[in-house]
Amino acid sequence: MLTVDLTTGALIYLFSALGFIGALWLYYDLRDKNLYEAERKKVTFYCVKCERLYTGRHGSETAACPRCKFENARLRF
Ligand SMILES: [Zn+2]
Repeated sequence: MLTVDLTTGALIYLFSALGFIGALWLYYDLRDKNLYEAERKKVTFYCVKCERLYTGRHGSETAACPRCKFENARLRF
């Protein structure tokens, strides 16, 4: 009886540990993906007036320079 309980206990412990690691792994994987997606969705702009690189919202074709407020078109690579 005691052996069965020990085995069950060990199995529960093993599975909860695995579940915990799996949850952590999923959490960090999703977090990195979101960070990457947010970074990828940003559009790069280059100010022709003060030669400064800055990022704007995804989908925007123009954005004002944070330093001189000059409207620049998005960079295309
Ligand atoms: Zn500027």
